[in-house]
This record gives sequence, C-alpha cells and structure tokens, in this order.
Amino acid sequence: MTVIDQSKMDGGASYVNAGYLAPSHLVPLAAPGVMKQGLKWMFNPKSPLYIKPRFDSEFLKWSLAFNRSCNAKHVERSIPVMKSIAVLGRDLYDQIKQEEGFKFQLEKKGLFMLCKTEEALHHEDALVQVAMKEGLVARTISSDEVRKMMPNANLDIVGAAYFECDHHTTPGEFMSELKTHLIQEGVNIRQEERVLDMEVDGGKITSVKTDISVLTADEYVLAAGSWSTALSRKLGLKILLQAGKGYRVETKTETGITYPSILAEAKVAITPMNGFTRFAGTMEIAGINHAINGQRVDAITESVTRYFPKVQVTEAEKANAACGLRPVSPDGMPYIGKSKKCNNLTVATGHAMMGWSLGPSTGKLVQEIIDEEKPSIDMSLFHPDRKF
Ligand SMILES: Cc1cc2nc3c(=O)[nH]c(=O)nc-3n(C[C@H](O)[C@H](O)[C@H](O)COP(=O)(O)OP(=O)(O)OC[C@H]3O[C@@H](n4cnc5c(N)ncnc54)[C@H](O)[C@@H]3O)c2cc1C
Repeated sequence: MTVIDQSKMDGGASYVNAGYLAPSHLVPLAAPGVMKQGLKWMFNPKSPLYIKPRFDSEFLKWSLAFNRSCNAKHVERSIPVMKSIAVLGRDLYDQIKQEEGFKFQLEKKGLFMLCKTEEALHHEDALVQVAMKEGLVARTISSDEVRKMMPNANLDIVGAAYFECDHHTTPGEFMSELKTHLIQEGVNIRQEERVLDMEVDGGKITSVKTDISVLTADEYVLAAGSWSTALSRKLGLKILLQAGKGYRVETKTETGITYPSILAEAKVAITPMNGFTRFAGTMEIAGINHAINGQRVDAITESVTRYFPKVQVTEAEKANAACGLRPVSPDGMPYIGKSKKCNNLTVATGHAMMGWSLGPSTGKLVQEIIDEEKPSIDMSLFHPDRKF
C-alpha cells in the first residue's frame, strides 16, 4: 500500500482539530437557519461562521447546494446515520489503542456544551433529547454541577448539556503513532509528493502521475481533504466541496479546564489535551488558503475569557495560532464510496467538522468497499454521485 501526501504530514486539519470523538454532533452542518445565520454574520469579522462571497462557479454551485440541504427533512434523515458512523469511529479508536498498543491520550469523560444564556440552554436541551432518543448518554445539568466537576475553572455560565457519550484525544499524538505504525506494517509513505494527474481508461484509473513519478495500483482512494474537488475533476467526477478554515490556539498555563467544553453561543471548542489546553474555532468558507486572520484568533480567545474569566491567552500564544481546512460538503455528510464513473477509485472525503471522529470508521468502510464486503453501516447518504 502506498500513501501520497504533498505535505510533510505534520500540520493541517488532522493536526489542529479539537480532538473530539463526538457522536453528540448528530446534526449536520447543513441545518435549517444555518445559511441565514451565515449571511447575517458575513459582515462581522469576529463571527464563528464566515462565508466569503466569491464569483467562482464551484463556490456558487456549492452555496446553492448547501442552501438546498439546510432543511429539516435532511437533518432528520442524517441523524441516525451520523450516529452510527460516529459511534463506530469512536469505538475503533478504543480498539486501535487496545489492540495495536498505541499510547495516545484517549479520555472518556464526555463533553460539555456550556451556555451563558437560557436561550442556548434551551436549544442544547433539545439536542440532548435528540441524542437520548438515539440511545446516546446525555443530560442537561446545572451550572453548580459543572462547577463541582471543574472546581478550579471559575466558570461564568447558566447551565450546560453534558454528552457523556463523547471521548477526546490529542490529535498530534495519534497521527504520529499512526504514521510509525503504518511504516512498520510496510506501507510506503511518500510525503512531499504531489499528485498532478490520473490516467483513465475504460472507467478505470491506470496510473497516477505525481511531481516525482508515475505510480500504478489495482485500487485507488481519493482522500485529499479540501483539495479533493480539484483532483476529482481530473476523473470527470463532480465532488462539491469548500474548504472551511478553522484555527487553534494553545496554552500550557494551568486553566482548570478538565473536561472538553464547547462554548455554545461562541462556538469555540476547548480540549484539555496531553500537557496543554487547546482552543479551536471558526468556520471560514473563503477558499483554499492558510492565512491567519488575527481578528478571528482574538474572537476565539476573547470568548474563552467570557466563559472562563480567569483564563487569559497571551499575545505569544496567539502568535502561535495555526489553522486547518475542513473539507465541507454541501449537506455536511461525507463522501464515502465508489463513483459510477470510475470503478477502481474509492472516495473518502468531505467530513467537514467530523473528520477526526469519523477517520477510523471511514477507513473501515473503505476497506469493506474495496474487499467487496457488506458495509458495517448503511452508506446510501454518503454516495459520491449524490445530487443536492
Ligand atoms: C479547528 C478545527 C477543529 C476541528 N475539530 C474537530 C473535532 O474535534 N472532531 C472532529 O471529528 N473533527 C474536527 N475537525 C475536522 C477534522 O479535523 C477534519 O474533518 C479532518 O481532519 C479532515 O481530514 P482529511 O484527511 O479529510 O483532510 P486533511 O487532514 O486536510 O488531509 C488531506 C491531505 O491531502 C493532501 N493532499 C491534498 N492534495 C494533494 C495532492 N494533489 N497530492 C498529494 N497530497 C494531497 C494534503 O496535503 C493533506 O495532508 C476540526 C477541524 C478544524 C480545522
């Protein structure tokens, strides 16, 4: 097996994410009201969701498809499917840790949605009911109970939802162990090598051309994150995706935050990782670029101080902010499967805000597709040829 990656495999979305393995995130990004909210936030440089208007046909097609997907029927259909793939992913991390001897941080403490307003608490409570209906362990809890669980965090909230079903990790640790493991298992990892083109004959890829060589294989997997659209075009596929930029800031200073916590109104994710606390947030749909917008970094750290008044992120810590691009499909569901246009290619991309949770389950589904086994879960909503 060969993995080709144009990067040094040490940064980007899979390294900067909040490390949540979150079956609680049942509602896809494309939900009623999200487009409207995005339009409202367009002119606020500190908003958590920013959609930059552009005269670009890919962006326009994606926006129309996203808008069409923001409906209640889509959310209702997606919830049980998201639950199945997220629970499978969460449990596979556990299995990998136990069976392969990985040592990465994997904690099973759950996740708080911290609310400063009754309105947000009401909204989160409704999501708790949805999660419970799906068989997930979740409850709404008082601010006093959260304070008891995090006695040194000095919280300023009215209450929280507590999704005990969620786990968390330190992504950099897992990525490094995974890479070492794959090399030990004989996988040929070709980093800093870029796929430029693919030769197709009779509905099959016959070779892949990179900036260094030409490679052949029986089966191919397209898992190029936000760059997957451009590569899919070379095969005549129409994988609609936009890059959703997110930032992370970290501190090694003691914060007292001992549970993963999302600031519900501010949409900032906080994770107590191994040796540091990570703050992650924003979804900037503004094309493929890695420019760091200082105002959005400030917005993340200012929100943290509003909920945790004792936590102050320093200028040096802010200057170390990094970003990653989430591959966002128009309906918030991943693309996993074979396109009718190419029968030796499996697509595995478009995981948006859930790619860390869903990595192992996606890997398992890809293996099942290639080996022509019965898939572990229903994959009809993930079809790469689906219309929006
Ligand atoms: C701030 C932030 C917080 C997040 N928090 C969470 C979380 O808590 N939980 C969760 O489940 N998800 C989270 N996510 C989402 C998750 O991180 C992403 O969905 C996931 O990492 C995407 O993985 P990927 O492998 O598809 O893409 P990437 O990690 O972007 O990998 C794609 C790779 O393809 C390579 N590539 C692209 N084009 C080519 C080419 N032509 N040739 C060779 N290589 C190429 C790139 O170099 C890149 O390494 C978060 C994301 C961000 C940004």
